[in-house]
Amino acid sequence: MQNTNLNFAIIGAGIGGLTVALALKQQGFGVAVYERTSVMTEIGAGLLLSPNAVSILDALGLREELRTISIETPEWRVLNSNGAILAKIHPQVGEVPGLSLRRSDLQQLLVRRLEPNLIHLDFEAIQITPGKDGRRLIDFANGEQVTHDWVIAADGIHSQIRNSFFQETVQRRSHYVGWRAMVDFIPKGWENGMVTETWGRGMRFGLASTGSNRCYWYASANRGFDQATKLEERKPLLLQLFKEWHHPVKDVLSATPHGQILETSIAERPVPKHWHKNGVILLGDAAHAMTPNLGQGAAMAVEDAWELSECLKNNPTISRALNLYEQHRRHRVQIVQWASRWVGLAIQTESPFLCAIRDNLVRITPSFATRASLRWIFQPSVKD
Ligand SMILES: Cc1cc2nc3c(=O)[nH]c(=O)nc-3n(C[C@H](O)[C@H](O)[C@H](O)COP(=O)(O)OP(=O)(O)OC[C@H]3O[C@@H](n4cnc5c(N)ncnc54)[C@H](O)[C@@H]3O)c2cc1C
Repeated sequence: MQNTNLNFAIIGAGIGGLTVALALKQQGFGVAVYERTSVMTEIGAGLLLSPNAVSILDALGLREELRTISIETPEWRVLNSNGAILAKIHPQVGEVPGLSLRRSDLQQLLVRRLEPNLIHLDFEAIQITPGKDGRRLIDFANGEQVTHDWVIAADGIHSQIRNSFFQETVQRRSHYVGWRAMVDFIPKGWENGMVTETWGRGMRFGLASTGSNRCYWYASANRGFDQATKLEERKPLLLQLFKEWHHPVKDVLSATPHGQILETSIAERPVPKHWHKNGVILLGDAAHAMTPNLGQGAAMAVEDAWELSECLKNNPTISRALNLYEQHRRHRVQIVQWASRWVGLAIQTESPFLCAIRDNLVRITPSFATRASLRWIFQPSVKD
C-alpha cells in the first residue's frame, strides 16, 4: 500500500495487540497502543508457542531474543492418569521449534521493540465514534480523547468494542475451568524442555519447563461458570482434586505459592462473519477466542497480526486489504477453534468407558498420523 501515512489505534496490549503494533510499525504505518491496565503485570503465567507463531515472531526480527527468553520443546507427551505415555508429539516443523516461555517475557520483548511512547497505559477505551474529519474518535475512561484513521480491537475475549460495534456479544461457554501458574521449581527427574499433559476423568494437568529453573503448569476440571473460587481457595482445591495423581503433580502444586494461581472459565467467541466495520478491525481473542486445548489462541492472534500487516502492505486500497484479511483468516481460525473444542470435549469426558476408548485411540494412533493432523496447524506461516 502506498499510503503508509495511515494511523492505527490498537486497543489492548496483549500478545495480539503488541504483535500487530510491531508488524505495522515495521511496514511504516503509524501505530499507538492503548491498554487499560496501569502496569504490564505478569498475566497469564506461561505459554506454549507452536512453530506457526514462532516463525512469525522470528520474521519480525525477534528470533535471537525470543530464544534467550524461552526453551525449545522437542517433545510433548500425552499421559494417562497413571503417568504412562499415550502419545509423543514432536512440534518442530522443519527448522522451526515449538517454544515454552513466560508470557510476560514475550510481552516485554514486544514492548522493548516498540518505542515506549507508542504504548499508553491506563487508557481504557470506552467509546469509539466517527470524528468530524471521517477518522475515529476514541474516548478513554481517564478523560483523554484521541483520533486515529483506524482502530484495531485487540481487547480480548470480553471485547467491549466487538460488543458495541458488531453487536455480537455471545460467548460460547464450556463446562470446564482452567487454572495455571508459574512456579520456581523443577520436579525431580524432569528434563529441560519436556512438556507433559495428563488426561484423567474430566480433569487434566499439563506441565512445561520455561527455562531459568521455572515451570509452567495448567490444569482443568469440569465446573460451572458460577463456581468461581477465591484466590486463597485455589491451591487447597487443586491439591484435593489432584491428590491421587502421578508424580510430580502434587509436588508442583505444593511448590506453587498461595495466591498465584489464575482461574479462567473457559469460553469461546464465535468467529464473526465480518472482521471490520466502520473503521474498526477485530484481531486475536476479540475476533475468535477459542478453548486452550490445542494451545493456539495466542498463536492465532500472532497469525492475525502478520496477515493483517501483509494484506495492508500488498494491496492498493485499505478496503481490499481488509476484505482479504477477513477471507484469509476466517476459514483457518474456524477450523482450529472447532478442533480445539472437540479435543476439549474428549479430554474433559468423565465416562470411564469413553476415557478408556479415548486413551486407547490416542495410544494406537501412529505418530505419523498425529504429526500429519497437527502439521496443518503448526506449519510455519512465513517461509524463509
Ligand atoms: C488456560 C489457558 C491457557 C492458554 N495457553 C495457551 C498456549 O499455551 N498457547 C497459545 O497460543 N494460547 C494459549 N491460550 C490462549 C491465549 O492466552 C489467548 O488466545 C491470547 O492471550 C489472546 O491474546 P489477545 O492479545 O487477543 O488478547 P488478551 O491477551 O486477552 O489481551 C487483551 C488486552 O486488552 C486489554 N483491554 C481489554 N479491554 C480494553 C479496553 N477497553 N481498553 C484498553 N485495553 C483493553 C486487556 O487488559 C489485555 O491486556 C491460553 C488460554 C487459556 C485460558
